[in-house]
Amino acid sequence: ARGLVWLRRDLRAHDHAALRLALSQCAQVHCVFVFDPHILDALPRRDRRVAFLQATVAELDATLRSLAGQAEAGLIVLHAVPEDAIPALAQRLGVQAVYASHDDEPYALARDAQVRTHLAAQGVALHTVKDHVVFERSEVLTQAGRPFSVFTPYKNAWLRQLTPTQLAEQPVAPLAHRLAPRPADLHAPVPTLSALGFEPVELPLAAGTSGARALLDDFLARMDHYHERRDFPSVKGPSYLSVHLRFGTLSVRELAGAAHARAQAGQAGAVAWLNELIWRDFYAQILHHWPHVVERSFKPAYDAIAWEQGPEAEALFAAWCEGRTGYPLVDAAMAQLNQTGYMHNRLRMVVASFLVKDLGIDWRWGERYFAETLNDFDLASNNGGWQWASSSGCDAQPYFRIFNPVSQSEKFDADGKFIRRYLPQLARLPAKALHAPWDARPLELADAGVVLGRDYPLPIVRHDAAREKTLARYAVVKATA
Ligand code: FAD
Repeated sequence: ARGLVWLRRDLRAHDHAALRLALSQCAQVHCVFVFDPHILDALPRRDRRVAFLQATVAELDATLRSLAGQAEAGLIVLHAVPEDAIPALAQRLGVQAVYASHDDEPYALARDAQVRTHLAAQGVALHTVKDHVVFERSEVLTQAGRPFSVFTPYKNAWLRQLTPTQLAEQPVAPLAHRLAPRPADLHAPVPTLSALGFEPVELPLAAGTSGARALLDDFLARMDHYHERRDFPSVKGPSYLSVHLRFGTLSVRELAGAAHARAQAGQAGAVAWLNELIWRDFYAQILHHWPHVVERSFKPAYDAIAWEQGPEAEALFAAWCEGRTGYPLVDAAMAQLNQTGYMHNRLRMVVASFLVKDLGIDWRWGERYFAETLNDFDLASNNGGWQWASSSGCDAQPYFRIFNPVSQSEKFDADGKFIRRYLPQLARLPAKALHAPWDARPLELADAGVVLGRDYPLPIVRHDAAREKTLARYAVVKATA
C-alpha cells in the first residue's frame, strides 16, 4: 500500500506517531507540508513564525532525504488551500490512506473534516492520531467520567494514569527505507520567504529539530534548578522550548519522559517543569471540552463585565502594546515581546493582569495581540493564560487578587537587570528607583539623565485607583455568580 503523511504542527522526522503508523502500514510513504494561505494571508508580511516555519520545513526536507538515503525522498511542499491540495495530491500519488496528527483548534478541526469528506469521496481514508500532547481529549477524566476543570486533581489523575506506553518512542528510522521518492514534478525546492510573499525578518532563535535539540541539551543541564530560577526574567531559568513544542520539532513524549524520570528520582526542578507540561495538556483538553472559551469566558458570569471601550480605551491599549505605560516592568516585558516574539511566563502574567485589571480592557484584546506576536502562540495555552489572568477561566486567579506591577517588579527583577536590558533609557537609574520612577527623587532622575514625560512616560494609570475600579467592575460577577 501507499500512504501520505500530512505534517502540520509535528515538524520532525523522529518519534512521530503518524509517520510511524504510516510506515508500519504502507510499503511506500510520501510526506507533505502545505503552506496554507488561509493562515498566511492574515499575517503581517514580516512574521517570525513564518520565518521559523520556513527554516524548519527546509531542515525537515533535508532530514527526510538523508534518513531515506535518497535525494528524491524529500518532503513535498505545497503552497495551496489544503482542503483542495491534499485530496488532489492523494489522487496524484495513488495513495490508499492519508495520515496526520490531531489538531484540536477550531480552524484545524473544520479543515480536517472537509479534507476527510473529500478524501472519502475518492475512497481514501484519513487516519489521525494523537501527537501534540501526552494525554488528549477525554483520556483523563474524573471518576464520574467528566472532564476536569481544576488543575490539581487533573494533574494527579494525569500522573496516576501515566505508564511507559504514553511516553514510548514512535521510531521512524528503522522503517525509513519506506520513504518513497517524489514524482519529478513535485521536486520543487522549499519556497523561500519571498516566494511565500513575506519579507525577511531576524529570527532570534534556531529553527528545526537541530535548534530544538540545542535548547534541550542546554536546558537538561539546568533543569534541576528550574523551580528556583523560573520566576526571574533576567535569569536563564526556563527552557525556551515553547516555540518548538508549538511546531512539534521535538516530541512532547520525549520531554515529558525526561522530566518524569528525574521527577521520580525526587528532583524538584523536574517536578516543577513536568507540571508545566501538564498545564499544557490541561489547557488543550479544556479547549476540546469547552470550545466556547475561544469566544467567551469559561465561566459565563464573567461575560457580564463591562470593559472600557472607545477612543480612550484604544489609546490605553496602544500604550500597552507599544510598552508606553510608564510601569517599567510592564514596558520592558512588552519590549521583549515586540523585539523577540518571546515573553517570560512571569511577565505574561504581569502584563495580562495589568491590561485587564489596571486598564480595564477586555482580556480578548490582549489575547489577540499575543496571538499576533508570540512565536509560541498556541490557542489553548494562550486562551488559558488570559482567562486565568482575567479570572474568567477554569481554575483562575480570583478576581480580587490583583497583581501590583511595582511589587512584582521589586520581587522578580529586584536589581532591575531585565528592565535595564529592554529600557536602556532608564539604565542609569538606581535599582530602588527603577520599579516606580515617578516616585524617584529629582536628584536620582537628574543623575540618570531621565526626564519623565520626555525620556520615559509618566504612568498612564494609578494602580491604587485602578484597583478600586476593577473591584467595582467585577462586582457584577459576584452579583450574578
Ligand atoms: P518553560 O517554563 O520551559 O515550560 C516548558 C513548557 O511547558 C513550555 O514550553 C510550554 O509548552 C509549557 N508551559 C509552560 N507554562 C505553561 C502554561 N502556563 N500553560 C500552558 N503551557 C505551559 N504558552 C504557549 O506555549 N503559547 C501561548 O500562546 C501562551 N500564551 C500565554 C499567555 C498568558 C497570558 C500566559 C500567562 C501564559 C501563556 N503561555 C503560553 C504559557 C507560558 O507562559 C509559556 O508556555 C512559557 O512562558 C514558554 O516559555 P518556555 O518554553 O521557556 O517555558
